[in-house]
Amino acid sequence: MTLQRHDCRALDQTDPLAALKTQFDLPPGVIYLDGNSLGVLPRATATRVQQVIQQEWGQDLIKSWNTAGWIDLPERIGNKIGRLLGAAPGQTLVADSTSLNLYKVLSAALSLQQARDGARKVIVSERSNFPTDLYIAASLAAQFGARLQLVDSPEEIAPLLNNELAVLMLTQVNYRSGYLHDMAAMTQAAHAAGALMVWDLAHSAGAIPVDLNAADADFAIGCGYKYLNGGPGAPAFVWVHARWIESCRQPLAGWMGHASPFQFTTDYAPAPGIRRFACGTPALLSLAALECGVDTLLAAEPLGGMAALRQKSVALTELFIALTEARCGELGVRLASPRDAAQRGSQVCLSLAAPLEHASYAVVQALIERGVIGDFRAGDPARLEAVPHILRFGFTPLYLSFTEVFDAVEHLYQVLKQQEWQAPRFAAKGKVT
Ligand SMILES: *Cc1c(COP(=O)(O)O)cnc(C)c1O
Repeated sequence: MTLQRHDCRALDQTDPLAALKTQFDLPPGVIYLDGNSLGVLPRATATRVQQVIQQEWGQDLIKSWNTAGWIDLPERIGNKIGRLLGAAPGQTLVADSTSLNLYKVLSAALSLQQARDGARKVIVSERSNFPTDLYIAASLAAQFGARLQLVDSPEEIAPLLNNELAVLMLTQVNYRSGYLHDMAAMTQAAHAAGALMVWDLAHSAGAIPVDLNAADADFAIGCGYKYLNGGPGAPAFVWVHARWIESCRQPLAGWMGHASPFQFTTDYAPAPGIRRFACGTPALLSLAALECGVDTLLAAEPLGGMAALRQKSVALTELFIALTEARCGELGVRLASPRDAAQRGSQVCLSLAAPLEHASYAVVQALIERGVIGDFRAGDPARLEAVPHILRFGFTPLYLSFTEVFDAVEHLYQVLKQQEWQAPRFAAKGKVT
């Protein structure tokens, strides 16, 4: 039997993490199920950014690089993010964007392999990986005379773990389906084949417990504006295993990654440690905002940290799936994410069965008008069976309640039952979906 609204309220009343919600400013009447795409605004952010603008920049001017510790922020915030990722201090750096950091680490990994064993010429990834990852990999493959080979399912990876494989590059949680790879097992399999392992943690950092060192990964990168609540376009992060930090080279050899940037020497010498993964001057205002976002996750440490957040995330997604199937199943709603919570990140995707498959976008818009914010990801028009249009919902235990999950499903039911989505205004597509 599925839960009633009063059962959900009871769950909220005994939820040890419920108090963490006071860290955020959420607009009233909104059920936000898109923290996987853009995290919400922490209460501390505006004050902190205001302080950086008025005091550190406005009053203290260029002195703040030293007096306010601006120069150390990328490493300091990197170390904070590292606490969520099973990293040791000195392994994680905040810099640039996810796309740029992927370019750096994938290039570093390919260079290492080129030096070790020039015969390894293949990068393996998934066709369903986020497009920027595939574009960057294809671009580097061309540069290195390597080949990017894409698989259509995780089962197809194993046969490609052979002596041609240079790098296995996976996103741990798929941005569409929410499929969650077993990081330790996959890394071990890649290593057994002599390959290096690059992980994209865009939908993992702040969403699920990650232990990069325990998994023995080689390189990892991820996003600041999703579950880390760093704000729109927040800087990203890069992590490198200690065995590679001193021996690897990344191609964007800018002055901020130099051993002594303020010597202004003509020749490049990489900084010792993770700082060599920096390129140019960091965006300070964005860094200040990112730190506030990361702090909202660290605030959960005394309450059990990522393990406790994961436990609530699983409970929220299980509840959403059970309620959706019970209430909306006969209206054509189908689960498009793994049913097994152990194979699912902190998101749930739904698709609509025929003849409603083309209504997905309008259904999401109608939900948004009702205050339930999720998003739409287009399917493959030629293969809607395999890659359907999806309604995507992220579940962020820092600020989401069980009652909100209940209400979100009720809104979905109403949108479908009353065919609200048919209103012409819901068909208009913006530039961003
Ligand atoms: C969100 C996301 C990105 C975003 O990259 P940007 O450089 O920040 O635009 C990259 N990869 C994956 C897997 C993502 O989910």
